[in-house]
Amino acid sequence: MERFDQNNPFVPYKALGHLDRIVDIRDKGWCWPVCADIWLTDRCNHACPECAGFREVSPDMDPHTAHKFIDGFAETGGKSLTFTGGGEPLLHGQFVEILRYARAAGLDVSVLTNGDLWDERIARNIIEHATYIRVSLDGYNEESHAKMHGVKGRFHRVMTNILKYVELRNDTDSRCAVGVGYLCCADTIPGIVRITQECRSLGVDYIHHRPLYGNTDDPRCAIEAAKGLATDGFLVAGSSKYAHFDGRRHHHRCYGQWLGAVLKTSGRFAFCCCLGGTEFGPLSEGWQDVWTSDRHHSAVDNVNAMYCKPLCRWQAANDLLWRVKEEACHPNFIA
Ligand code: SF4
Ligand code: SF4
Repeated sequence: MERFDQNNPFVPYKALGHLDRIVDIRDKGWCWPVCADIWLTDRCNHACPECAGFREVSPDMDPHTAHKFIDGFAETGGKSLTFTGGGEPLLHGQFVEILRYARAAGLDVSVLTNGDLWDERIARNIIEHATYIRVSLDGYNEESHAKMHGVKGRFHRVMTNILKYVELRNDTDSRCAVGVGYLCCADTIPGIVRITQECRSLGVDYIHHRPLYGNTDDPRCAIEAAKGLATDGFLVAGSSKYAHFDGRRHHHRCYGQWLGAVLKTSGRFAFCCCLGGTEFGPLSEGWQDVWTSDRHHSAVDNVNAMYCKPLCRWQAANDLLWRVKEEACHPNFIA
């Protein structure tokens, strides 16, 4: 497992590292996913107004369901699993066991958390096993954090917990990257430089400034200013999605979602994390059957990406895949 130093985990076109899948999409129209999100619980100790899992109310995922998915996903060439939500993954009673199960199955794992809950055993296991943990901070003071996360008085506790993850990592030989995610919108753009400075002081490896899904407030000037605070051990990254800020999508199909599965707490799959209501499954019908099902294929056929909100997570991959699959001819003449 490698922690990055100078390199940037947020560069676009990382899909090019999985050429076999790109060729499958070009030739067959689909592929087995490289990465997956798993929502272990819909419960959360925060109440973000923009939460993707806000309306989900399923009971916590049974560990057998999680194991079944992990086994099937790994068998079909899955590489990485992200514990996210839905709800706050650390609230699931068997989080540590499922995390370790995924590592034992050979998957790289990562954890996205709101950072509010501190549990020494959970933290040690994350630092030992995960490629990275990223805390969704999304505020630069109590007021902005409360507005973004729907709960009051948590900002300083989250900052303290981020520092604890950094110290825990630094006290071991762990290569786990500790990062911060920062959603940019009118309420948070004024704090981009300030929070970047504070996160550098905490000793995190990076801060990633990224768009709130569908929000078109433009933070690029502030992000550029914040990049001046980067050091050899501290990356200041702006989402690659901002490269598409000024233009409309030109891809109609969302081929990108074939690269990543999203297993919801209910045991059903979301078409993408942005369109949580567009589902297929359930997993109980069998991982391979569900992923290759007519229902999944018709969901892909029926989503017109031109009508999706801007700046979604598969923007760069979709851009690439649309050109390769739908626009290119004479494929053997590259230049
Ligand atoms: S912290 Fe995450 S899971 Fe919890 S309400 Fe906010 S967006 Fe949703
Ligand atoms: S284009 Fe983006 S928002 Fe639309 S379905 Fe694909 S991943 Fe989801």
